[in-house]
Amino acid sequence: MKDESSFLKPLRRGETFRFACHPGVPCFTECCRDLRLMLTPYDVLKLAEGLKMSVSDFVDNYTNLEFMEPSGFPVLFLAMRNDEKRRCPFVTNEGCSVYPYRPSACRIYPVARATKVHPVHGTLIENFFLVRENHCRGFEENKEWTIDEWLQDQELKNYLTLNDHWTRIVMHPNLKKGLTEAQRRFAYILCYDHDKLAKMLSSDKVRSTFGLTEKAISSLMEDSDKLLHFVFNWLAMSLLGR
Ligand code: SF4
Ligand code: SF4
Repeated sequence: MKDESSFLKPLRRGETFRFACHPGVPCFTECCRDLRLMLTPYDVLKLAEGLKMSVSDFVDNYTNLEFMEPSGFPVLFLAMRNDEKRRCPFVTNEGCSVYPYRPSACRIYPVARATKVHPVHGTLIENFFLVRENHCRGFEENKEWTIDEWLQDQELKNYLTLNDHWTRIVMHPNLKKGLTEAQRRFAYILCYDHDKLAKMLSSDKVRSTFGLTEKAISSLMEDSDKLLHFVFNWLAMSLLGR
């Protein structure tokens, strides 16, 4: 039976931990169920790309929409299957069927990363922890990692950069008073409704505001990293006046 007890152990940079996850561990895929798994806009884009679906179709088929408290910012969670174990829709007996484009939360586990913005310098301060869950037998394996080795192995660089950009907006103190309905809709379209986003980008008003040519719009729509940097800057400008 899955033992749910867990604790967080602070991890310093350079300190090592032992961990490996592979089909040979006795708990293989046991953790891919009954999860409250938040998907960042970058997670959603990468999963949709990997599954060769439009972002809107992915959102309709695989996510549940919630609103953050107190800002009311829209945020998506991966919808678990409607079966007894509430399994992830992508788990199979062979493992994760979306492994190359799995979300950031699945990549970083068993490490947890907490961030906060420096009150004076505005830089991001990060702290790392090891999530020790008793049901996870990966800690009994011999492979050793530092945090940096783990982040690199899990190809997290772009995920962390874009997730941090998004987090700085959604957690901004100015949003505590709550978004208006129009702002919520705007944030949803920019982050998750890329059919409508493409139409917005092609409108005369948006094109002239940002000086966008047809070529620039196509290049944004073809490059998810570029598109999200642009979208997050637009969100920050519109919601935070930056
Ligand atoms: S519980 Fe740990 S070792 Fe087992 S499958 Fe999940 S991550 Fe891998
Ligand atoms: S996306 Fe993959 S790794 Fe993440 S919970 Fe689902 S099956 Fe497991």
